[in-house]
Amino acid sequence: MTDCQDHPLDCRKVHELLDDYLDDELKEVVLGELETHLEMCPDCTLHVDSVKKVIRLYREATEEKVPVDIQIRLRDVLARVRDETEEQGGSGD
Ligand SMILES: [Zn+2]
Repeated sequence: MTDCQDHPLDCRKVHELLDDYLDDELKEVVLGELETHLEMCPDCTLHVDSVKKVIRLYREATEEKVPVDIQIRLRDVLARVRDETEEQGGSGD
């Protein structure tokens, strides 16, 4: 328990868990591991931050009756941010 350098979660796993994390659906154990990873990994922190930001904007937008086209645009951004994690390094088309 003391000098375990093997982190239970790697970046890819963190990205996989991101949806559940943001929905508050992670079990406490997993949540703890994820947050530990975030403390050590600026990349993932940045990513989680940007997704969180978009989600908050989106929620505020839907609550405050923002024009539908803006809501759609935010949803689009959110989907893209999430997609990025899945197609990292890929070159489509
Ligand atoms: Zn990471």
